[in-house]
Amino acid sequence: MVRVAALVPAAGSGVRMGTDTKKQYLTLDGIPILGHVLKKLEASTVIDSVVVIVNPGEEEYCRTAVVDALGVRKVAAIVPGGKERQDSVYNGLLALSADTSIVVIHDGVRPVINHGILQAVVQAAETYGAAICAVPVKDTVKLVGEDGFVARTLPRGRLWLIQTPQAFRYETIMEAYKKARTEKFFATDDAGLVEFSGKPVKIVPGSYKNIKITTPEDLVMVSVFLQEEAEGCS
Ligand code: C5P
Repeated sequence: MVRVAALVPAAGSGVRMGTDTKKQYLTLDGIPILGHVLKKLEASTVIDSVVVIVNPGEEEYCRTAVVDALGVRKVAAIVPGGKERQDSVYNGLLALSADTSIVVIHDGVRPVINHGILQAVVQAAETYGAAICAVPVKDTVKLVGEDGFVARTLPRGRLWLIQTPQAFRYETIMEAYKKARTEKFFATDDAGLVEFSGKPVKIVPGSYKNIKITTPEDLVMVSVFLQEEAEGCS
């Protein structure tokens, strides 16, 4: 039985990065960003198995240039993604065996994670059914109208930035994805679909270092954090 399976969506096009190489394959310290993520999952005793989701046609490249090159052994499958992230994750869910107990979903472009965060989110998912990492916002957040004027100021004390990893009981996330597909509901994260299915989602403390690499300045920050980790001072 696979107790905890990780899904790693890495089928984005990365247009906001503005590089020829897709961001998941850009190297930091000689290792592709996706490779850093897979190494972290490999090292974490809480993860039993990994499914990577890549752009259709990139499966073989990912296998040789990332998985085999790094000697990562937990990767059970590399499957093609879809148009939206939600479509990619769904393809990953279909590749899991039905005896999976907990599904951890983690972006292939967030390499600054650690065993502690993975363990905490898995434990919370076992207890509550769904759990997501998050950090409180630091800046004030305002809702802005299409006219460029502030519509209102949101209550900062209750606002959190949501990250991955997000973890779910297998049945909880499968049901949520099936309902969303039937009703054509889209959300910007996996927990959004669980919320839509009417189930509670528990917040687990994440890390301000757990940046999703999106634009070039994110790369600078993440390379500093990975360097800190390598030097054992994070
Ligand atoms: O660009 P975005 O913030 O949506 O990317 C989050 C993660 O989802 C990235 O790792 C990206 O590769 C992945 N993704 C995907 N399939 C898509 C779009 C994004 O797997 N169609």
